[in-house]
Amino acid sequence: ADTTTSRAPADLPADPIDGPVLVTGAAGFIGAALCEALLDRGCEVTGFDNLTPYYDPALKRHRLDRLEGRPGFAFRLGDLADREALGAAFDAAFPDPARPAYVVNLAAQAGVRYSIDNPHAYGEANLTGFLNVLEACRARATAHLVYASSSSVYGGNRKVPFAEGDGVDHPVSLYAATKKANELMAHAYADLYALPCTGLRFFTVYGPRGRPDMAYWKFAEAILAGRPIQVYNHGDMRRDFTHVDDIVEGVARLIPRPAAPDPDFDPARPNPATSWAPHRVFNIGNRRSERLMDMIATLEELLGREAVKEFLPMQPGDVQETSADVDALEAAVGFRPDTPLREGLATFVDWFRGWNGR
Ligand code: NAD
Repeated sequence: ADTTTSRAPADLPADPIDGPVLVTGAAGFIGAALCEALLDRGCEVTGFDNLTPYYDPALKRHRLDRLEGRPGFAFRLGDLADREALGAAFDAAFPDPARPAYVVNLAAQAGVRYSIDNPHAYGEANLTGFLNVLEACRARATAHLVYASSSSVYGGNRKVPFAEGDGVDHPVSLYAATKKANELMAHAYADLYALPCTGLRFFTVYGPRGRPDMAYWKFAEAILAGRPIQVYNHGDMRRDFTHVDDIVEGVARLIPRPAAPDPDFDPARPNPATSWAPHRVFNIGNRRSERLMDMIATLEELLGREAVKEFLPMQPGDVQETSADVDALEAAVGFRPDTPLREGLATFVDWFRGWNGR
C-alpha cells in the first residue's frame, strides 16, 4: 500500500460551512454519521428520511436517537418521492433566504443485489426522488448540492484504479444505472440553471452503525452465531473498503466548496465548448483494493473466531474488483481517505458486539 502521502485529516484545515445543511437519508448509515460530524462542527442540520424498512428500522431509530435533542438538529419524516414533504423540509431547513443553503442527498434505495428483484424501489427513490431533490434545489437557489453516486457506476471496468474520466457507460445492475442517471441529471441541472452539484462515487463504506445488508456485517453476524458465511465468486473479489469517518470528512469538506465558475462562461451566448456546468464527480475511496478473503481473515481475528465458509459463484450485478483513484478529490479538498482496513474494522467490531448482544 502507498503510505508515502498519508496524513491525518485533522492536519489540514477544512473551510467553515456558512449556512444550514439539509441531509436526506439522515437515518441511514452514512447520513447519520455525517449529521453527527456536522453538528460537531457547529452546523445547523435538518435531517430528512422516510425510515424505509429495507433493513431493521430499529437501527435507523438508534442512529436518530443519537442526533435528536442535539442543539442545531431537527428531523423531518418524509419521502423523496413526496414533493410536498420535500418542499416543506427545504422551507424548514432554510428559513433565511439571505444565507447559503446546502443540500446533501444520501437518501436512496441502496444495494446491488436487492435491485435485481425489486427494480421499482430504485425508480421511485433514486430517479423520481432525485429529480424532486434537483427541482427543490433549483426552486431554492441552493448554494451546493452534494449527492451520493457509487463506485458501481464503473460496472465491469477491469482497469484499476478507477479514475473519474474512465468510461462509465456499462452498468451491470439497475442500482448502478440509477446512480449513473443521477450524475447525468445533476449535470443537466447544473448546466441549465447554474446549480452547483458535486457527485461522490462512494467505494464500499463500512464502520460503526453500518448496514446489515453488507458483507462485513453479514459475516460478523454469522461468525458470532457460528453460522456459515456465504462467500461469492469463490472469494476471488477485491474491494476498496472505505471507513465511514473518511467518507464523512470528504463530504463535510466539499459542502462549502462548489465548483469554481469558469471565467470564460457567457450565459448570453451559450456554446457547448465554453458552457460552464458547475458539476463535478469525485471518487471517494481508500485507494487500496483488498482481497475479500483478507477482509474475512481480519474479521475472524478481531472476533476471535473462525468462519465456516461456503463458497458460491459470482452473483448477478456484482463486480470483481473496485479501486479508487482519489487524486481529484485530494486536489479539491486537501484530503484523501486513509484508514487502514484492520483499524477501521476494529471500530466496527467494537460497536457491533454491543449491538448484536443487545
Ligand atoms: P442507507 O440505506 O443506510 O441510507 C439511506 C437512507 O435513505 C435510509 O435511512 C433510508 O430510510 C432513506 N431513504 C431511502 N429511500 C428514501 C426515500 N424515498 N425518501 C426518504 N428517505 C429515503 O445507505 P447508506 O449506506 O447510508 O448510503 C447512503 C448513500 O450512499 C446512498 O445513496 C447509497 O446508494 C450511497 N452509497 C453507499 C455505499 C455504501 O457502501 N454504504 C456505497 C456507494 C454508494
